[in-house]
Amino acid sequence: MDTIPCKTCNRQMFYAISSETAKNIPLDARPVKGHCYRLEPGGEVTPLKAIPELDSRPIYVSHYLTCPQAGQHSLHKPEPEEGA
Ligand SMILES: [Zn+2]
Repeated sequence: MDTIPCKTCNRQMFYAISSETAKNIPLDARPVKGHCYRLEPGGEVTPLKAIPELDSRPIYVSHYLTCPQAGQHSLHKPEPEEGA
């Protein structure tokens, strides 16, 4: 994967396509333990909640959660609520 600096906070991150929603999501370049997304061999990522049993593959956290300048990301538009 190619990491790039965040445009607002300059931390290293990379984009991957969610295997759940097929959308591009920014992830912190550094893997974390415990939660968020697993990088698949094809470059997709799977939300941990969709994985019944975890193995030893690295887990990444969404940069949306860690960026101190999150409010300045144009990507941070909230999704419209479904239904209702
Ligand atoms: Zn950032």
